[in-house]
Amino acid sequence: MNLLLFGKPGAGKGTQAPRLAESLGVPTLATGDVLRQAVREGTPMGKKAKEYMNRGDLVPDDVILGIVGETLKKPEYARGVILDGVVRTVPQAEGMQKVLGDLGRKLDAVLCFEIDNEEIVQRLGARTVCEKCQTPYTGRNAGERCDKCGGTLMRRKDDEPDAIRNRLSVYDQQTAPVFNWYTRNGTTVATVNATGTVDDVSQRALKALGR
Ligand SMILES: [Zn+2]
Repeated sequence: MNLLLFGKPGAGKGTQAPRLAESLGVPTLATGDVLRQAVREGTPMGKKAKEYMNRGDLVPDDVILGIVGETLKKPEYARGVILDGVVRTVPQAEGMQKVLGDLGRKLDAVLCFEIDNEEIVQRLGARTVCEKCQTPYTGRNAGERCDKCGGTLMRRKDDEPDAIRNRLSVYDQQTAPVFNWYTRNGTTVATVNATGTVDDVSQRALKALGR
């Protein structure tokens, strides 16, 4: 099962990814995590990425996709993967298709989490994160203590309404066309209503995948 999670920032992909991983028995792969790991391990692509990072430059798509390809060759990904936030633009979708193709694999489905913009503004506006361990909380105030590590909860600048609307407009311009790209090239695209409780959304997601 090779699955790609897709949807607006704040739609809950990051929350659903580990739950789906548990239910489907395949690991998740998020770009930021594998990038940091490749740099730490000093893999060929990790070394390349480090050159860009040392110069303060963004790591380009081909290097990121190279790292995703290296990671997918590891035995723990042999049975499948849940790609979380890996594809945000059409060129990245094309690149990802090539990476999978080179490994003799293809996406079985794209799971798209659907939610209204205003719901996202509300949801993220009510969110605080632990400044130490990054655990997100809903309905807790900045300055309170993290249940997990005792760190201080804070509101992220990214979660202010104006910043969220800006991220959503970037999504509309760059990422929404990816959905059409997958639909056109014959990939199974399943949409999931992402409003409601975390459990409800997980159940809908599994149902959409026929599980
Ligand atoms: Zn914490």
